[in-house]
Amino acid sequence: SGINFDHYDDIPVEASGNDVPEPITEFTSPPLDQLLLDNIIKARFTKPTPVQKYSVPIIAARRDLMACAQTGSGKTGGFLFPVLSESFANGPAPVPEQASNFYIKKAFPTAVVLAPTRELATQIFDEAKKFTYRSWVRPCVVYGGADIGSQIKELNRGCDLLVATPGRLSDLLERGRISLCNIKYLVLDEADRMLDMGFEPQIRHIVEGCDMPSVDERQTLMFSATFPMDIQHLARDFLKDYVFLSVGRVGS
Ligand code: ADP
Ligand code: MG
Repeated sequence: SGINFDHYDDIPVEASGNDVPEPITEFTSPPLDQLLLDNIIKARFTKPTPVQKYSVPIIAARRDLMACAQTGSGKTGGFLFPVLSESFANGPAPVPEQASNFYIKKAFPTAVVLAPTRELATQIFDEAKKFTYRSWVRPCVVYGGADIGSQIKELNRGCDLLVATPGRLSDLLERGRISLCNIKYLVLDEADRMLDMGFEPQIRHIVEGCDMPSVDERQTLMFSATFPMDIQHLARDFLKDYVFLSVGRVGS
């Protein structure tokens, strides 16, 4: 893995939508938080990839985003950097009053990232751990095919940024182990793969059938390698006044 920076500036990028923010050329504060910049330097990321140049200021400007870019273009940092930056600066969200009276202990993440597989969720979680170093933000990861009891134990230690596969998150919501009422950021990573794997019902349950804040009260970021009709429909249902970003050649 790793980024091929050889043809770096040849990669065509198109951004469309209302009042699209200008791209950044370097990782700087602002818009990024200083603690995050320190962690970016530790990770030896010297400059943003094309998708990061655009996605960072778009997300920092509190816009919804539909981004199409191929694997290996740096999408994880593209959403993690602005989301973590804002979270670092804001501090923890207050947990709802009645929560302490509940018999079942709930986690109240402020950001949730959906990914199609255990492998991809773990990769995002590992990046999140790296970039939350020395911050108050505690990432957690949950996926199917693994012991749910130990995942619940981890959630109970605190979960600010949750990375999840749709099936396991849907299950934990049904069990009352997670509330989405504090969500400020909803990220759908590899959305086309999630639909190909048949996760649309679980995704709709998470986004529309639980206590997820409405499209006006959260920021929604969708990433996909391709932009076929079913993804266009999901974008129509989940996003508001979004910026459409396409990096490199994108299939439909
Ligand atoms: P994608 O999600 O688009 O497939 P990733 O976010 O997984 O891409 O990034 C691919 C690889 O490039 C990872 O190993 C990641 O650590 C690395 N990477 C991402 N952004 C940068 C950057 N700005 N500088 C150097 N390496 C980067
Ligand atoms: Mg990725």
